[in-house]
Amino acid sequence: MVPKTKNKKFVFVVGGVLSGVGKGVTSASLGAILEAKGFSVTALKIDPYINVDAGTMNPVEHGEVFVTDDGDETDQDMGNYERFLDRDLNSENYMTTGRVYLTVIENERSMKYKGRCVEVVPHIPEEVIRRITNAAEKDRADITIVEVGGTLGEYQNLLFLEAARMMKLNDPDSVAVVLVSYLPVPSHLGEMKTKPTQQASRLLNQTGLQANIIVARGPMELDKPRREKLAVFCGVPRENCISAPDVPSIYEIPMRMEQQQIGNKLLRALKMRTRKTDLTEWGKFVKKIYNGNKEIKIAVVGKYFGTGNFTLADSYISVIEAIKHASWYHNVKPILEWIDSEEFEKDSKKIKNLKTYDGIIVPGGFGTRGVEGIMKAIQFARENNVPYLGLCYGMQLASIEFVRNVLGKKDAHTVEVNPESKNPVIHINPRQADNVRKNRYGGTMRLGAYDCVLKKGSKVQKAYGLDKISERHRHRYEFNNDYREEIEKAGLRVVGVNPESDLVEIVELKDHPFFVGTQFHPEFKSRPMRPQPLFREFVKAILSKKK
Ligand code: GLN
Repeated sequence: MVPKTKNKKFVFVVGGVLSGVGKGVTSASLGAILEAKGFSVTALKIDPYINVDAGTMNPVEHGEVFVTDDGDETDQDMGNYERFLDRDLNSENYMTTGRVYLTVIENERSMKYKGRCVEVVPHIPEEVIRRITNAAEKDRADITIVEVGGTLGEYQNLLFLEAARMMKLNDPDSVAVVLVSYLPVPSHLGEMKTKPTQQASRLLNQTGLQANIIVARGPMELDKPRREKLAVFCGVPRENCISAPDVPSIYEIPMRMEQQQIGNKLLRALKMRTRKTDLTEWGKFVKKIYNGNKEIKIAVVGKYFGTGNFTLADSYISVIEAIKHASWYHNVKPILEWIDSEEFEKDSKKIKNLKTYDGIIVPGGFGTRGVEGIMKAIQFARENNVPYLGLCYGMQLASIEFVRNVLGKKDAHTVEVNPESKNPVIHINPRQADNVRKNRYGGTMRLGAYDCVLKKGSKVQKAYGLDKISERHRHRYEFNNDYREEIEKAGLRVVGVNPESDLVEIVELKDHPFFVGTQFHPEFKSRPMRPQPLFREFVKAILSKKK
């Protein structure tokens, strides 16, 4: 049964022609626009994978694992929703095929279907609908944006489209469909082509759905003849074909789309009264992006292999956005360079190249490869007063580097890399060790938001302006408290601690312009107009040093 949802509206965003066409940013932008009209908006991402969450997916293939407050390991698009909507999302805002099937099978095993045959249709789409409406209820949203992952014509996302069809059938005015599609410009023609999108639109029709709006992505603006073609062949009103050419910054997109009044067009499709949009604050923020001509150069050191910058940009998207937010706040332009730490292992002279950078970041990571090189980079930052921010693995490796080179315990390590180390500065608790032993990898790390009490007078406490904070975690290993006193005495201060477990969450170096390592991932909570305090202070330290 499809539940009745009183006064709730749903916008399904589907993709045509290509993957990576921009559904996520379009969904986030639509959300921002509707919020700017005064609606309460939430968003939901559907990932067609069998994986129950994104935690077990390869980040180089699938992109960053975005962690929510309640500890779900989700798709990177969720990060865009949070950043554009300026709202925390949770587990109910994310689903995968695996998750949906798991619930249906568990329900069947516990006789929730009361002995009836359980079938793919309708039981799977019904569970999808239950999840969508549940998110709308929980988030008290007037309008819920639902991004259907994958591309039209795939087998994988059909049941999600079936869910949309069933919802529309149940209450036609409560559902609108936005088709985000690609219009290529073949170089030998120099002209934008609509045919692939016409076909995508037909594939959508085959599922029983019709687009209300087409977002025409491509390298150039949608012109009049092409708009006409889309309108006729896709059955979409001319004015509902929205031009969405590539732009330098994704944060421009809400403004660009709203210039074409996409918001009111969507409201009309949902049989709602149109409203004014107030994007003043957003507009001011976008101006700041292009304000600064002063550049800062940041080295992001990690183990990267055989990947282009493009893939890396996807795998570390929240880190990149957090650096941008912080830099724009200070009216400067960040230049990020990805440095493969294995280079420093092969040729130790290369470490000197780090001189040309204003700051160094070591992002999260797993495993053995490249860690020695990373620690060389950290040592360089520590000894040469280069502002350093270590995120998760970047905090763990900074602690190990310190114990090795300042305390002189050369065999110090993390048991993740060397389980035999006599100086396990980073170790594992018995529960986590058991998980690893039993191959229980899915969803078992220390995940989600934990409180952290900050030491009075520390740099990080001043940065936050708070005594207690909450930040998001995703790791299996922890700082070993046996080493706490020693590192503190030697100048690496423990300035953030979890009040319940006494786990070390932040270390900060004395007598250094900025050297901070966090066991959590501060990047997840940075917002365009509210940069994350540690990133903000990291950039500030860079600028003070440059002066
Ligand atoms: N590999 C480390 C751990 O599991 C760090 C994880 C991370 O950087 N997210 O504890």
